[in-house]
Amino acid sequence: MKQFLAFGVTIVLVICLYKSWGSPTNGVSHYAYDDGDGSVIGGEDNAAIDQKHRRAGPSPERLVLSVADRSGQKQQPNDDAAAGRPGPLDDVELALAQSKPQRPPLRKGAFVAGSALERHHVPSLNDLDPDDLDHESRLNELHEAKRQILELERKIQELEGRIPRKYPDVTFLNYKNRKRILITGGAGFVGSHLVDYLMMQGHEVIVADNFFTGRKRNVEHWLGHENFELIHHDIVNPLFIEVDEIYHLASPASPPHYMYNPVKTIKTNTLGTINVLGLAKRVGAKVLIASTSEVYGDPDVHPQPETYWGHVNPIGPRACYDEGKRVSETLSYAYAKQEKVNVRVARIFNTYGPRMHMNDGRVVSNFIIQALQNQSITIYGSGRQTRSFQYVSDLVDGLVSLMASNYTQPVNLGNPVERTIQDFAEIIRDLVGCKSKIIELPAVEDDPQRRKPDISRAKKYINWEPRVPLQEGLMKTIDYFRKELARSNHSQRNIFVPETTEFRSLL
Ligand code: NAD
Ligand code: UDP
Ligand code: UDP
Repeated sequence: MKQFLAFGVTIVLVICLYKSWGSPTNGVSHYAYDDGDGSVIGGEDNAAIDQKHRRAGPSPERLVLSVADRSGQKQQPNDDAAAGRPGPLDDVELALAQSKPQRPPLRKGAFVAGSALERHHVPSLNDLDPDDLDHESRLNELHEAKRQILELERKIQELEGRIPRKYPDVTFLNYKNRKRILITGGAGFVGSHLVDYLMMQGHEVIVADNFFTGRKRNVEHWLGHENFELIHHDIVNPLFIEVDEIYHLASPASPPHYMYNPVKTIKTNTLGTINVLGLAKRVGAKVLIASTSEVYGDPDVHPQPETYWGHVNPIGPRACYDEGKRVSETLSYAYAKQEKVNVRVARIFNTYGPRMHMNDGRVVSNFIIQALQNQSITIYGSGRQTRSFQYVSDLVDGLVSLMASNYTQPVNLGNPVERTIQDFAEIIRDLVGCKSKIIELPAVEDDPQRRKPDISRAKKYINWEPRVPLQEGLMKTIDYFRKELARSNHSQRNIFVPETTEFRSLL
């Protein structure tokens, strides 16, 4: 009987001891401990989490995540590393240690209060059996795996930096209101801004571009969006798709670009326009043709109203573009008359803004780049020739308003504030704040001497006029070019993002 009682007392004692060390059900982690003043390190939440850990052990996902969580943290040098020993236990080692057959009694209170890791009452490397070679080699494998995971994470981060994390929150349009819109030349300077605008409006946008002067980078923030499609297509070849509206912008626009291959420039503006009009005719789409102030040539009427027929040299260096655009207009009205195609013609004056080409040889890009690099600013001729510059967002507003209107005659879209090229050079030098010299180079052939749009038609029929002052637009453009110059490789992005709340979230 005595023996039986002693056995019973022993059992009770063992149970009490077990409970005082913390059972899986007593609400306090087995690994949390009393630090002597009665407080429990770890607290209730941590205790619950610790319990979960202890029961299940970390899952593979948890392991990867925990490594990922800490990948951003700089590795701290430690004494172990300095001594050539493995560093303190990390979660990988912790998992390994826990997956090992449990070693007998973990010493209660063997840890100093502090980090979350320390709150886990786990063995240190020194506690592991040094003879356990298999265990050592598994540890090494895990170290190697962790190194590879970190390497992959770095690569993922690099790739993530190259694409926007999310798309801007575009307006939702229902099926009835949403249009399918084709933009030829949509990867170019003007086209890409138009893409942004129409995408934000909630339309489906299809860009057809041969990337002669355009770049995928200009529209890359839309790649993959369900409303966006990019087609590598030369508009000189027929294009068969179904659309409601077409903005026909495909054509090189700066003098060095359109003079580079004059025959191709003519084909793009004639054959390309025929294809666009044929497409519009087949599907009944409304079409807007991007014409130019160059149809006025070197004008002898000033400012230029749409009723002015122009003064163009048909065989000069600019003729491929000027006459190409004039034929493009002629074709539009021929298709309108004969085939009842619904056409709009925008005569666009000098436009500038972010995403212009660095080396398109135009006055805006040339002067800004020269000023940013403290090089001489080059004026061709006397500098007394004039231009009127509009910021690209104003042009986009004008194009969209014209398309939406019922007005079918040509409409000038430009800023009527006229400057001499000499003045313009000084304005840019002041805005950049450099000490560039302004020098005169020989005049270029057939350079139009005066250019300023008469925009009364645009005001009257499409209720449009430009709003962005020159100084404001130039500052944005200078900022863009400054970032372009700072790039030294492709992974350094300089994606110009328009200023709306939605777009800013892309940065
Ligand atoms: P841009 O050179 O930046 O864009 C033109 C786009 O058309 C480029 O993406 C180019 O790759 C593409 N393209 C050229 N030929 C093509 C072809 N055969 N097939 C398919 N795509 C082709 O020029 P931009 O300044 O954006 O000009 C856009 C339109 O506006 C042009 O039609 C231009 O004539 C007109 N425009 C522009 C200005 C201006 O100051 N930017 C002034 C007057 C008229
Ligand atoms: N076209 C096109 N896509 C279409 C319809 C026509 O590219 O969806 C081209 C067609 O190949 C032709 C041009 O547009 O070269 C003009 O078409 P149109 O119908 O006016 O002329 P046609 O085909 O009768 O010569
Ligand atoms: N221009 C200049 N220096 C340059 C580039 C252009 O003086 O480095 C002049 C050019 O001769 C023209 C005006 O600036 O008188 C506008 O030229 P751009 O090529 O920008 O456009 P254009 O209106 O001639 O098509």
